[in-house]
Amino acid sequence: MEAEFDLVIRNGSIVDGSGRPGFRADVGIAGGIIRRIAPMIEPDLARHTIDAEDRVVSPGFIDTHTHDDLYLLTCPTCDDKVRQGVTTEVIGNCGQSVAPASAAHRDMLLDFLKIIGSAQVDRADLNAGSFEDYLRKLERAKPGINVLALVGHSTVRMSCMGMADRAPSDQELQDIRALVSQAMQAGAFGLSTGLIYAPGNYAATEEIVALARVLAPFGGIYATHLRSESDREIEAIAEAIRIGEEAGAHVHISHHKIGGRGNWGKSSETLRLMAQARSRGIGITCDQYPYRAGSTYLAAILPPRVLAGGPSVFSRNLKDEAFRRDLIRAVEDGTEPGWDNLLKGSGFEGILISVSRRRDYVGKTIAQIAEMECKNPYEVIFDLVAEENVGVIAILFGMCEEDIRRIMQDPWTMIGSDGIPGFGVNRVHPRMTGTFPRVLGKYVREEAILSLEAAVRKMTSLPAETFGLKRKGGRPAVEKGRILGATSGQVLRREA
Ligand SMILES: [Zn+2]
Repeated sequence: MEAEFDLVIRNGSIVDGSGRPGFRADVGIAGGIIRRIAPMIEPDLARHTIDAEDRVVSPGFIDTHTHDDLYLLTCPTCDDKVRQGVTTEVIGNCGQSVAPASAAHRDMLLDFLKIIGSAQVDRADLNAGSFEDYLRKLERAKPGINVLALVGHSTVRMSCMGMADRAPSDQELQDIRALVSQAMQAGAFGLSTGLIYAPGNYAATEEIVALARVLAPFGGIYATHLRSESDREIEAIAEAIRIGEEAGAHVHISHHKIGGRGNWGKSSETLRLMAQARSRGIGITCDQYPYRAGSTYLAAILPPRVLAGGPSVFSRNLKDEAFRRDLIRAVEDGTEPGWDNLLKGSGFEGILISVSRRRDYVGKTIAQIAEMECKNPYEVIFDLVAEENVGVIAILFGMCEEDIRRIMQDPWTMIGSDGIPGFGVNRVHPRMTGTFPRVLGKYVREEAILSLEAAVRKMTSLPAETFGLKRKGGRPAVEKGRILGATSGQVLRREA
């Protein structure tokens, strides 16, 4: 008998991502596509066989929130994700995409992309270019997983108006809209915002509505890092819903969390707000990583106005004593409008340095460093940011388990790692390498707050439907723990 299948996965329990109960069957794959699922496939029909006795067989996972835009260029096999079972990922999140980059503001953009690894890649290779140029560059890198890209609001804004802390002029707004439209035509799946970060934070709601309107004819998604994930989160979700409603775009809330002890428990309210919007016919979903700590660049804990003018300006300002005193007042006072005060939510003992040129600081909290240096903790932060600006990355402890569980149990929550790549040199938040195993291990097997079938649905069919992904197929990428170096990933372009 001639082999009909390149590969048959035998005796596994199939959890197909639809949410229905797992069942025992064999899976026959040919040409990278699943051709048959049957109780038994004749052994003779298989060129290769994997025995999955006592194992679960499922579709590849979709990581809906990543910052692998540059990591994919240096490690196209995307080892950190493939080892977790991820076969598709979304890049360009939190307002930060690599493209489009204008020649005028390219260096500034690369400074802000330090958090996702612009210091680890050859900057000369990242020529100012269009979104299409970047997608082609990704294609030439031959990724081992499928990639879909969002265009970042901070990036397009910076391309047109640098770090200006003001509303765009009519002409500037037209220019920004044109960049979003070009990215959508090139195949972007939507627009992302990072509304706690400069320069995303400088945008009023109206500006974002005007940009999100560009998405509607393409069926693009509006993915947002909310303007607040702590004290003003309810208002921030209302803003996101308003943007989706006025622009006619599906709203996707990135890494949904409740930050700051005083806000713990508010997830019942945030999920209810989303459910109400859904009942009015607005498409709204969210994703989540399964940890009590977040991670971002240390400078993000300062009011965004501090970052106006770009890194060289704020480095200089931060060395000024009067400027520092004013900042301390602002942080302690905590009422500065339009600012998500992450320091208040975590405290000095809840902020851990994960990446810095000061190797002796890595792995220590701001409180510990202050003690070690006999300095005021504010001075530690100001000195670090003045010295290394957005190159210092911190891990911030600010969430509670109760909210994590409640958000995870909501049927509209997907799983997104929000991983910051370490490029083999930096110590990073474990969400980069541990998100999917942790959901399945801690929350499904140990705590049983979620069935395996429900968890796999969050990782597969729910994001596929939301982002509009069709049949993707696949080839083996990891075997017995070894990365096979597959180059079968596709740079996906949104199909109208
Ligand atoms: Zn974010």
